[in-house]
Amino acid sequence: MFSDIAVIGTGYVGLVTGACFAELGNDVVCLDVDKSRIESLRSGNVPFFEPGLEELVRRNASAGRLTFEVDPARAIPGAAIVFLAVGTPQTADGSADLAYVRQAAVTIAENLGRDTVVVNKSTVPVETGDLVAAIIRERKASTHRISVVSNPEFLREGSAINDFMHPDRIVLGVDDVGAAATMRHLYAPLNAKIIETDVRTAEMIKYTANAFLATKISFANQIALICERVGADVGDVMRGAGADQRIGTAFLGAGIGFGGSCFPKDLAALSHVAERVGVVPSLLEATLAINREQIERAVERIERHVGALQGTRIAVLGLAFKPQTDDVRDSPAIALIEALLEKGATVAAHDPVAITTAGRRLGSRVTYAQNAYEASSGADVLVIATDWNEYKQLDLRIAKSHMRGRLVFDGRNVRDPHEVVALGFDYMGIGRYTRLACADVSSVES
Ligand code: NAD
Repeated sequence: MFSDIAVIGTGYVGLVTGACFAELGNDVVCLDVDKSRIESLRSGNVPFFEPGLEELVRRNASAGRLTFEVDPARAIPGAAIVFLAVGTPQTADGSADLAYVRQAAVTIAENLGRDTVVVNKSTVPVETGDLVAAIIRERKASTHRISVVSNPEFLREGSAINDFMHPDRIVLGVDDVGAAATMRHLYAPLNAKIIETDVRTAEMIKYTANAFLATKISFANQIALICERVGADVGDVMRGAGADQRIGTAFLGAGIGFGGSCFPKDLAALSHVAERVGVVPSLLEATLAINREQIERAVERIERHVGALQGTRIAVLGLAFKPQTDDVRDSPAIALIEALLEKGATVAAHDPVAITTAGRRLGSRVTYAQNAYEASSGADVLVIATDWNEYKQLDLRIAKSHMRGRLVFDGRNVRDPHEVVALGFDYMGIGRYTRLACADVSSVES
């Protein structure tokens, strides 16, 4: 066991990392500049929704293995391993904003108390490891030795603990043998496949993985558009194509697009890196462009069906960027709502857990409903924007009895079109043309 792990940043990645390493028997201190977040964690409350995390935090905090700090002088000097898990948001030009990473590197430099392995878990452009090492070497007052490691995180919000504890692989970008041994020892209890590379390669692996997954989604959405025009079903097409082991079906679901705090910004950052080194990132740009078009197309199709959106009442089910999280960063549901509001529609929204986080973005421009049926009251259109399980078998008969209109826009292809139409609705999915169901795809869209 290690008695000396510090984690900088207590967001989704930092807190899961800290709590999981504590669960494995290590003593971990989590550090954040956000005082209210630390206070909340000290009283056992996790400030965001992640299944199982609050229980894990409470258990390890009461066992004394997990503590929370705002003062770096109480967290960094004793740590042999310091994880960096701060945000790397997108800047106006698409590049990754490394301000938090730089600030955290300065904090480490100013508080080093022993030889330390500095592990970057934030998603960062290639060469950030060099930047962190340079900042620390330049500013450190002591003679302590530091090694900078890249250990990108692949967890998914909604299943973060399981992903952390049972990873497909652990990527370790290390440029020195001692740090490699330390990291292997730390991760040994997980019994996972370890891929050891140099630091720059590890940094590229993370961006490559996210870019590929996002590209699969945009690929499915492009095929979906063709399916609508030719009268094919994209779900079946992807099942058929994905049955080829070289392809696989994961991340080939058509819908209103990808979002969240990672894919959009990571693609933009990778494009930026590509341009910096003289590579034209045409595939990455196309992936982002197709994704943006999903929202425009959804709005156009709804508008075409109802006539004009001005004065139309729309029930939107789902606000989070995906199920099992309250994270609404870059959520397609929010982008769709913004576009509908812009056109003069009135929106009543529901989400099982993301109403508070979405409320910070949308404020009083939207009505928030206690449940999906309440949202559908008086609605002309019912939109499924996030594929929460509870919308998959929502009783549409009840929703219909509350509605004024009869269009179901299934932005996540979670409902059976035939069943929806049999209930007396008009149905629109993404790439799910059927003669029976897809009232909007006729001569208008073909
Ligand atoms: P987040 O925004 O939820 O949390 C970041 C935390 O870092 C915040 O609490 C912030 O107050 C804190 N912070 C910022 N600067 C600090 C400093 N100098 N000292 C101490 N604390 C500081 O971020 P996140 O979603 O956990 O993501 C962190 C990184 O991990 C990003 O680079 C992201 O791209 C990457 N990542 C995220 C996910 C995910 O699903 N969220 C998955 C894999 C990788």
